[in-house]
Order: sequence, then C-alpha cells, then structure tokens
Amino acid sequence: MMSLNVIMLGPPGAGKGTQAARLAREQNLLKISTGDILREAVTQGSELGRQAKATMGAGHLVPDEIMVGVVRERLLQPDTNSGFILDGFPRTVRQAIALDELMRHRGGVLVVVQVVVPLEELVRRLHIRRICASCGNNADPWLPAQALCPKCGGEFIQRADDEEEVVRERLRVFHNQTEPLVDYYQGSPSFYVIDGNQPPDRVAEEIRSVVTGTARVGVALPRTDGAL
Ligand code: AMP
Repeated sequence: MMSLNVIMLGPPGAGKGTQAARLAREQNLLKISTGDILREAVTQGSELGRQAKATMGAGHLVPDEIMVGVVRERLLQPDTNSGFILDGFPRTVRQAIALDELMRHRGGVLVVVQVVVPLEELVRRLHIRRICASCGNNADPWLPAQALCPKCGGEFIQRADDEEEVVRERLRVFHNQTEPLVDYYQGSPSFYVIDGNQPPDRVAEEIRSVVTGTARVGVALPRTDGAL
C-alpha cells in the first residue's frame, strides 16, 4: 500500500502540533515534530541540543544542514514506512527541496496542509500556551492554572520561546523564511489551505477530509524539479 505523508505548514500558534497529533491518532500515522526533537535534545544535553539551544531561545531557525540531517535520519526508521505527519518541517525552501529529494526515494503520497490564522489570534494563543515540562503535551486552554498533564502527571509551563519578545521574532522569521514555502508548494496537486481560526473540531474535520480525500485519489508525488 502507498504510504500517506502529510506536511503541516503554518506559523507558530496556528495549531499545527495539536492538529498533527490528532490526525496521527485518527489515521494511525506517525507524528514527527522537529520542535519536539530539538526540545528533547536540549533537555538531554546532547550534541544536537547544545547546537540548537541558543538559536531556539532567540526564536531563530536551526541551520538547514542540521535539520535536514535530523529529518533524514528520523525518516530512515522503519516506523515511518506506512506514513508520517511532519510538524514544523520544512521551514525553509532549502528544507523543502531536501524533503522532495528524500520523498523521491521513498515514493508515496505527500499532502501539504497550510493552516492559516490571523496575526492577533496567533499572538493571543502563544501568550496563553502552556506545555507539559515532562512530555511536551500542549495544555488544553481551558484547564485551570494548577492542573497537571492528563497524559503523564507533569507540570505545565510556558515554553521559553513563547515569551513576548521571542514570539515577535519567531513570527518575523516565519514571514521571511517559511512563508515562501507557500509559493513553493502552491502548484502541487495536493496543497490545501485550511482556516485555522475555527473551533479545533472543525479544523480537524477539514484536515481529515482533505487528507483522506487525497489518499483515496492516490498518486500525488512531490515535484522533483527543485524549482522555486
Ligand atoms: P516549534 O516547536 O515547531 O515551534 O519549534 C521550536 C523551535 O525549534 C523553532 O523556533 C526553531 O528554533 C527550531 N526548529 C524547529 N523545527 C525547525 C526547522 N524545521 N528548521 C529550523 N529550526 C527549527
């Protein structure tokens, strides 16, 4: 069977991670979040973590060579064979070109979902966002301040890079370096734009509909010319 692979594209706070986790659960796909991989590396103090820590703290992007290496290695693991959802990668055109190259060898369907949310709403969400210090799970916004993570019992904290100054920088970085990806993918037959400023159930429903629709239609291989 052809593998189903999904890229979630969107600014910080668009709900990519939440929606990717949900889709992964429902469609039995593997979610790969490069932000989670990096945060874990920082916590463990690995070489990757040491390389990425300051860059992440400043709200900038970790260099393409490093990120492409991380994703290439992750996609070599057999648990990715039946499909994956990438959350937070690619974030630059160079990363997208590298991913196309990887996909060319793997084959399968590649669906690109762009989640669009107005700027003021992103700022509002990032301001109130909390994640579990132990497992990285996002706290539901309606949970009381002192609640513990329902998945692992860990404490919820604010992400260091959700601090206001850094948020502004991350949104700028998104605009300058990641938004050009929309042009890159726009010609692809399986590129979809979803309104992320709706109730989460509705967003999930729309994503599910385009992803499973593409899977049914079948072949939607990534472009291979590497052109911008
Ligand atoms: P995220 O959790 O996706 O918001 O990622 C948190 C931070 O990790 C980003 O602000 C970047 O510093 C870094 N990061 C995650 N994914 C990438 C990527 N694909 N390319 C470069 N940096 C990344």
